[in-house]
Amino acid sequence: MNVTIVGTGYVGLVTGACLAELGNHVFCLDLDQDKVAMLQRGVIPIYEPGLQELVDRNVEEGRLTFSSDVEASIAFGDVQFIAVGTPPDEDGDADLRHVFAAARAIGRHMERSKVIVQKSTVPVGTGELVSAVVREELEARDKEIEYAVVSNPEFLKEGCAIDDFMHPDRIILGVGDDLPGRRALLMMRQLYLPFNRNHERTRVMDVRSAELAKYAANAMLATRISFMNELANLADRLGADIELVRQGIGADPRIGYSFLYAGTGYGGSCFPKDVEALCRTAQAQGQRLQVLEAVQAVNQVQKHVLLDKVFAHFGPNLRGRSFAVYGLAFKPDTDDMREAPSRVLVAGLLRAGASVVAHDPVAQEQAARALAQDLADAPHLLERLSYVAKPADALREADALVLVTEWKHYRSPPLAAMKKLMRSPLVFDGRNLWDPHQLATAGVTYVGVGRNNHA
Ligand code: NAD
Repeated sequence: MNVTIVGTGYVGLVTGACLAELGNHVFCLDLDQDKVAMLQRGVIPIYEPGLQELVDRNVEEGRLTFSSDVEASIAFGDVQFIAVGTPPDEDGDADLRHVFAAARAIGRHMERSKVIVQKSTVPVGTGELVSAVVREELEARDKEIEYAVVSNPEFLKEGCAIDDFMHPDRIILGVGDDLPGRRALLMMRQLYLPFNRNHERTRVMDVRSAELAKYAANAMLATRISFMNELANLADRLGADIELVRQGIGADPRIGYSFLYAGTGYGGSCFPKDVEALCRTAQAQGQRLQVLEAVQAVNQVQKHVLLDKVFAHFGPNLRGRSFAVYGLAFKPDTDDMREAPSRVLVAGLLRAGASVVAHDPVAQEQAARALAQDLADAPHLLERLSYVAKPADALREADALVLVTEWKHYRSPPLAAMKKLMRSPLVFDGRNLWDPHQLATAGVTYVGVGRNNHA
């Protein structure tokens, strides 16, 4: 099948490369000409395991093309995926500017029937608005061309995006029940046939339910995280260990282990904006989503939990102190710094007078850009922030090590280096990655999240 992907970010690029891998011919369109130029040179602008090989192979075999030529790209695909960003606007609603621009471009340039697939996360009702934008463009050109708007929300996780895309738990298709909708469903079933060989994974529903299902999924996952974080803070007060509590409840199949880790709060480009956007959608309907409002409030507090623990230990004035920070990306296996909890920690340490030596396997460049934005009011503080290529180098003369992102690289605590290089062997483990007993036995002071009984 010929497919066009509008928007070549995390979702669009992975979708395009995976659909090409399955034998489709894919045109990836982006308005960011620098990004397109990089992709055309074979440089992948994001870090995503396995993506480079997948893109190289499919470009080489002539199934994957990158372009900023809107007209040619839209002419190409029978199926047009919209995978542009939907960041929050200043009120917290999803900003649909890019989605409507993409829809307008499709309506303006299509010369034959198209299936328009909404992959971006968009509020309920957007499918109808996208359809209206396309109709308006067609009418302006006095054209009558059949099209349908399908909602096909994306559930991939950055860091294992290819595996998630290639082995989906479910494929949601929200379609209208008119003739164009039924025809679009047949095409989408055809496109996704390779995923359904052994199990039928497709869930067909109306467009509004599909749009809401995406928000419901992220809201549920964010709820589990905030629930555990709140209990972790209680465990700290009670002298219990939240890790043991997690194991105790995760064994119950009604609960399960996923997304039950206490830590420094959720970040990234999706959970914060999607939970907020869903609350805003409900408010517009005269309803408050009280559980999700609490989920957000807990998360705001949790993003400061490491900083609070550092202040509790050293006091609020950190002048002359030096901190090693492990992990900057909002989670492992990505370079995405959007809403990363490390930003709160690092900026907070610098503002309190400390020096910071940070390590992240891939996100250092993005972190430098993000922190320059966060500290735009006090850029001189960045002079006290440096980065190292090897994690152990961050430990030299450090008063404490703060672990923020649980990259595999950090799974074994560098006990010998901690004792040899640090001023005092003290760790704040923001992901409860390490075993407090092991550290205590090695003479390292351990502070986790919800594990105060080990402090
Ligand atoms: P992104 O910001 O990484 O990429 C968006 C891309 O779209 C950018 O390259 C931008 O230049 C391009 N773009 C914007 N307007 C355009 C236009 N009119 N024409 C062509 N290109 C245009 O975004 P992302 O992280 O890939 O997210 C895309 C959507 O998918 C969002 O709605 C997001 O909520 C959703 N989503 C993201 C993830 C994730 O893990 N990142 C997972 C599931 C769903």
